[in-house]
Amino acid sequence: MIAAVRGTHDILPGQVERWQYVERIARSLCDRYGYVEVRTPVIEREELFSKGTGETTDIVQKEMYSFTDKGGERITLRPEATPSMVRAFVEHSLEHALPAAKLYSMGPMFRYERPQKGRYRQFHQLDVEVFGLQDPAVDAEVIDLAWSLIESLGIPQAELVINSVGCANCRPQFQEALLKALGDDLPKLCADCQRRAQTNPLRIYDCKVPADQPIIDRLPHSVDYLCESCATHFAGVKAHLDTWEIPWKVSHRLVRGLDYYTRTTFEVLGQTLGAQNALLGGGRYDGLVKSLGGPDRTGIGFAAGMERLVLALPEGRGEESAPKVFVVAVGDDGRQEALKILRELRRAGLSAHMELEARSMKSQMKRADRVSARAAVIVGGDELSRGELTLRDMRAGEQTAIPRANVVHAVSAVLK
Ligand SMILES: [Zn+2]
Ligand SMILES: [Zn+2]
Repeated sequence: MIAAVRGTHDILPGQVERWQYVERIARSLCDRYGYVEVRTPVIEREELFSKGTGETTDIVQKEMYSFTDKGGERITLRPEATPSMVRAFVEHSLEHALPAAKLYSMGPMFRYERPQKGRYRQFHQLDVEVFGLQDPAVDAEVIDLAWSLIESLGIPQAELVINSVGCANCRPQFQEALLKALGDDLPKLCADCQRRAQTNPLRIYDCKVPADQPIIDRLPHSVDYLCESCATHFAGVKAHLDTWEIPWKVSHRLVRGLDYYTRTTFEVLGQTLGAQNALLGGGRYDGLVKSLGGPDRTGIGFAAGMERLVLALPEGRGEESAPKVFVVAVGDDGRQEALKILRELRRAGLSAHMELEARSMKSQMKRADRVSARAAVIVGGDELSRGELTLRDMRAGEQTAIPRANVVHAVSAVLK
């Protein structure tokens, strides 16, 4: 037997219904908020991510699936969606083609990470992006969409955390203050933090090493170093969230692991696998579109981990399926007529099933139970020669004779 590639997983019946439910709710919400779907390829040029995601990130340095294709081109399986969405936005001039550049996408992403429970090398994300709109109301709408997704899915114990990491004008002062505050403690931090201090000091806040935490807890907060326009923007975002009665908390450590974030960052945390994990996260990235060769347009968005949403979904959600009718054939004549009825029921929009290999009546009824059919139509014998069928209500255990011509109507009534 050839097994699935390490770090990948099949989504099988029993689980796939929960996935479809999450996807359905996400699509319907995006639609209601005026976001349109864009589907980008899973492969892109490697430079899109080295430039877009950032040369110094763990993703680009350690986790990308990259290869040289037969034409000699460097190709990468996308590790995140944002750079692809930016590319599509620029390549197709979507700001002119669409009434508003409010986009979403759903699909698989690929990162070469050490597989562990709930973490895969092929994983799936819902990605939401807005280009070219700067008002704090846009940040608030994106956060509202994210929060409404969690609420609509019925995920309990969720918590929204926000922060502002400033802009190109005010961040250098914060970085300087950060390094100054670290001072003599810097050599005590882990090797990753030593490297971060050189490349992108803000990322020291991402460190999970327990010994580093007391030092990191003493570091300054980005919100205390915002320039006037960043401070006004952040106050605006919070005011809009309050207007919509969305509960938020500032988390000073929320600087996010990617290079392109500016101003607003946010995450929704939830309980999965017995610990608090980010179900989704995002923020503003005002310089990214330009840095990828596009016009100078702002951007904001978030990515939600589908595996985590499915895991956090309450038991029983999304597992209801349409009621089924089972068609039972008695004898050869009955079988021909039953096949006809099966198709009639399906064309009428009902979920209709039948044993396609000829079996005894007893084993057909067993199968009807196995698929949890709510009704069975028994076709054949003397009844059929009189132009009638037997309709069995499987829950009530009652049988009635119905006219053959009336089958769709009578079955629909029982399935209701
Ligand atoms: Zn600023
Ligand atoms: Zn560290």
